[in-house]
Amino acid sequence: MPMIQSGHAPVETTTIASDRPRWQKELGQAVTTPEALCRRLALPESMLAGMAPGHRQFPVRAPEPWLRRIEPGNPDDPLLRQILPLPEEGEDQPGYVSDPLEEVSGDSASATSGLVHKYASRALLMVTGACAINCRYCFRRHFPYDEHQLGGSDWQAALDRIDDDPAINEVIFSGGDPLASPDRLLARLAAAVARIEHVRRLRIHTRLPVVIPQRVNTDLLDWLGDTPLQKVVVVHINHPAEIDDDVQAALRALAGTGATLLNQAVLLRRINDDADTLEQLSERLFECGVLPYYLHAFDPIAGAAHYDPGDERARALTRTLLERLPGFLVPKLVREVPGQPAKQPLNL
Ligand SMILES: *Cc1c(COP(=O)(O)O)cnc(C)c1O
Ligand code: SF4
Repeated sequence: MPMIQSGHAPVETTTIASDRPRWQKELGQAVTTPEALCRRLALPESMLAGMAPGHRQFPVRAPEPWLRRIEPGNPDDPLLRQILPLPEEGEDQPGYVSDPLEEVSGDSASATSGLVHKYASRALLMVTGACAINCRYCFRRHFPYDEHQLGGSDWQAALDRIDDDPAINEVIFSGGDPLASPDRLLARLAAAVARIEHVRRLRIHTRLPVVIPQRVNTDLLDWLGDTPLQKVVVVHINHPAEIDDDVQAALRALAGTGATLLNQAVLLRRINDDADTLEQLSERLFECGVLPYYLHAFDPIAGAAHYDPGDERARALTRTLLERLPGFLVPKLVREVPGQPAKQPLNL
């Protein structure tokens, strides 16, 4: 049975208020109720009842810099649809399950808390369960984050496990959203990872530079710029309207540290499942120094079936992109299949 409110843990608020960087203030002031969302975006109150079942499963959460890019009063806005619980979330659909990737129940789940080691050469470090935004379609909307969060001495255990396995050449900061953690902690972790001889690369999977572009501040740029590791930042952008001037500046600043920037998107019905939108997304990403990496075919997640465009549509769209764009702007269409050693490409 899915846990009530099993979503992302609240973001740490241990720093003294006046010292908190701007992005942490934005996180603290995020909209977290259907009522506040309706008020902020001039949505009809008649939508509230339909939002209740979804909000109970996985609470509404969106900070102001994200809301600012949404057209008020438009229930079809592509950024709104990513955060708006619809009545369909309360309906069970056969085949849509709470743990489609078997992260909780499968063999790949972590032996050391916080370290999900699923790929031969890569180790995932679950830096925090917190996220800046709750995306309705998230495949982790039912994930018991708290059991996979690290604290205190757990860090050392996770780092020791990486140290003991010479096959690991890349460490991935994951979550939740690892950049929801304070830079002091991230800088310390990055330094500890850099001391492990066989690790060459640091990868960060994050949506924060897009959700709150002010997250890319000098503290972050300093430690990321300083690490001797090769670095890859994988952002998550589904629609070109997510990239306003602030996001563009944040992405360019990240690229300025020498990091390779990649994007992963999820193909979502009535958000980005048309060729023009995907083409514009690739072009816009490239303008910001980001290469399209993955396009995720939808995972069968309970409560999110209404986002599934279907695999046939996913294949057809990818074929159209291949006709319209240079190969390097066409993301790989993939799905994560439980028990497989890597993401599976879909045959076109
Ligand atoms: C797929 C995935 C990875 C690793 O996959 P690559 O194929 O090496 O990119 C790491 N983290 C997350 C969250 C993923 O979904
Ligand atoms: S930011 Fe990523 S992990 Fe967090 S809710 Fe959105 S998709 Fe899920």
